[in-house]
Amino acid sequence: MVHGGAWAIPDEMVEAHVRGVRNALAAGWNILSKGGSSLDAVEETVVVMENDDTFDAGRGSFLNREGKVQLDALIMDGATLRTGGVGCVEHIANPVRAARKILSESPHVYFVGEGAERFAAQHGIPLCKNEDLILPREVERLSQFQARSSEQGHNDLFAPTISHDTVGAVALDRNGNIAAATSTGGTLNKAPGRLGDSSLIGCGCYADNQSAAASTTGWGEPIMKLVLAKWAADRVASGSIPEWVAAEAINYLKDRVNGHGGMILLDAQGRFGIAHNTPRMAWAFKASSQEDSGIAR
Ligand code: ASP
Repeated sequence: MVHGGAWAIPDEMVEAHVRGVRNALAAGWNILSKGGSSLDAVEETVVVMENDDTFDAGRGSFLNREGKVQLDALIMDGATLRTGGVGCVEHIANPVRAARKILSESPHVYFVGEGAERFAAQHGIPLCKNEDLILPREVERLSQFQARSSEQGHNDLFAPTISHDTVGAVALDRNGNIAAATSTGGTLNKAPGRLGDSSLIGCGCYADNQSAAASTTGWGEPIMKLVLAKWAADRVASGSIPEWVAAEAINYLKDRVNGHGGMILLDAQGRFGIAHNTPRMAWAFKASSQEDSGIAR
């Protein structure tokens, strides 16, 4: 299962979003159908979306207040609970690859900034210039946003109409193992060093074979406060079905902290849920017996 952000995706951007999540899904399915692991599947799925300019992940991400791309990503293996995360990296086009290296090759779970980049480079991940990740479209978006907020004296950064194009994937493989990954450029005009929910374990991403795999998107601060991915996984572990839990989690987000966003949730039996309280969320899923994608649920 894949998501490509939850917000009011404008009509003219729907096609690119649906195409993007379907392409990503195909990459993950290709691995799973050959007997590959859920961990490999979520990594490759997220890489496809990081490489797609449509989404707020990898190249083409939103810019922070200083006009830089700062990326966060997390990947987690539900079989072993091994996890890798990176935060605030500025010179890695595919942060989920760096996160995967941390999961596989480090005793640590999370690296930030320059240390994360050094670890990645030492483990064969190419570094790039920050400018290589910046699109003129995003320079324009930031300058318009900053002009508008200085005129109005406030900003509407957290309105559900503001783009939340974070990407994520959850997968179940033939061995019954689940995994999850989430990758983001974060929110537009964020302060340098700001981390959202996406790469924080249990907030924007979580996976445990004994509960569920989850990836979230939306306004990160409220999601973090509720540790929402783990909240949902725990409910699945207590016997609720993922379809209900995903919807319940998004209601809880709204009711408790007035948050907005979306979630994909999958357990080791293949039961799943997709929910959002934004006007739209790009999603896609495939199983041996069924396949679907869309922008609303
Ligand atoms: N959750 C992300 C963040 O707050 C944004 C998004 O989902 O697009 O960094």
